[in-house]
Amino acid sequence: MSELRYDGQVVVVTGAGGGLGKAYALFFASRGASVVVNDLGGSFKGEGQGTKAADLVVDEIKKAGGKAVANYDSVEHGDRIIQTAIDAFGRIDVLLNNAGILRDISFKNMKDDDWDLIMKVHVQGAYKCARAAWPHFRKQKYGRVINTASAAGLFGSFGQCNYSAAKLAQVGFTETLAKEGQKYNILCNVIAPIAASRMTATVMPPDVLENLKPDWVVPLVAVLVHKSNVETGRIYEVGGGHVAKLRWQRAKGALLKADDSMTPGAILAKWNDVVDFSQPEYPNGVADMVAKLEEAGKLPSNEP
Ligand code: NAD
Repeated sequence: MSELRYDGQVVVVTGAGGGLGKAYALFFASRGASVVVNDLGGSFKGEGQGTKAADLVVDEIKKAGGKAVANYDSVEHGDRIIQTAIDAFGRIDVLLNNAGILRDISFKNMKDDDWDLIMKVHVQGAYKCARAAWPHFRKQKYGRVINTASAAGLFGSFGQCNYSAAKLAQVGFTETLAKEGQKYNILCNVIAPIAASRMTATVMPPDVLENLKPDWVVPLVAVLVHKSNVETGRIYEVGGGHVAKLRWQRAKGALLKADDSMTPGAILAKWNDVVDFSQPEYPNGVADMVAKLEEAGKLPSNEP
């Protein structure tokens, strides 16, 4: 199979001064793309800022003969980051919403600031960048977006309720952008990566991290944002050589009469069906739920 290339394309990578973002930036530049290397340059807890992190990555790309420009704005100002792409390269084709921080603390001890900052960087940040890129994508009928979730968001993680909430938000955000973007050839997917970085250095032992290079997350992202890709609105977990798609699963479920007989006791009597995953369904939209109710004669059907 020939090598996937991105010649003539412009890739914006947020949080590209280190970790996964740096690995993405170096890769896409090495495969022909012009890259906007965005990084606020603060600590992994979101304190401080600086230009060095982004500058070092830009220097490395340029030394290797690639094209890159730095941007030092917080993703909360996504419009400025996308403007950097337009000013420097005249377009944007790919947006990798990757920037992130942690404010780990038990729910009992969480302060509003810990919650708000995580929401600002992850949720507001992904929104602002995608919002600014969207008109360009629609106009050119081409765009690729990767949002970054986390196993913490999909499954929960002790001491990370702020981060978990922000990361699962990426899933709903992506699923809706995918639906709205499809007819304009704007494809949006979400990854739950695992990789050694300064972020994971705080929560994983060194011997585990040795087996989790960011470079092993990059190839999946490369596939998903390539022009040949057709997948959209999907969730993937990736890291340490493992790549797998995830999806929602619905149990058999119970259909009860929607009248006064629908009591807690009536649900308990059908509990085995409520939790029966022996023949699961894989819903992919609100319409799936409505169709199920129509099928059971619970709603008038729209079919002629
Ligand atoms: P990292 O700390 O190495 O990289 C994150 C980068 O984002 C840093 O360079 C930081 O300066 C930058 N950044 C932080 N706030 C910013 C802001 N407001 N504006 C612009 N840049 C900002 O961490 P990483 O592990 O490479 O994480 C990358 C992404 O992957 C994050 O969204 C993280 O939540 C997610 N993630 C990582 C893992 C993992 O195992 N490493 C697991 C799940 C999710």
